[in-house]
Amino acid sequence: MGDGPSIFTKIIQGEIPCHKVYEDDLVFAFLDINPLSPGHTLVIPKEPARTLDDLSDESAQAVGRVLPRISKAVLKATGASEFNVIQNNGPNAFQSVFHVHFHIVPKMEDGRGLSIPFKSSPIDHDDAAQLSSSIRDLLD
Ligand code: 5GP
Repeated sequence: MGDGPSIFTKIIQGEIPCHKVYEDDLVFAFLDINPLSPGHTLVIPKEPARTLDDLSDESAQAVGRVLPRISKAVLKATGASEFNVIQNNGPNAFQSVFHVHFHIVPKMEDGRGLSIPFKSSPIDHDDAAQLSSSIRDLLD
């Protein structure tokens, strides 16, 4: 978690090679070096925000605008018809590169792709009412 440019900034700047799939003024996308399945793609803002909550609206809009289009191309190129988009923030939330990135992970028919034993439990409606109200207030 150093303070210098992230490895992804170096990739954007061409200092580290990558298999680039997309670039515009605000967004860059390339294949993950350690893919969960063929075509596993990372879509990143050029803005060097460390986590999603620090990203500007402008960059967020630019990434959101192209995610569906890049996903569609990844699916077509890999022959997959299903996929996951994963976005990790913080070391305990499985983030290892501290530059915002969205993983597009094709789910192949043979099972390759994301497999998570999601650990969930039923919602507590009293807690949920309070929480949703606080989040709404903070978004106002
Ligand atoms: P995170 O765990 O932070 O959500 O995901 C970081 C991803 O970046 C990992 O899937 C890892 O394989 C990928 N990655 C790390 N270093 C490089 C690199 O130098 N080049 C590429 N193409 N991917 C990288």
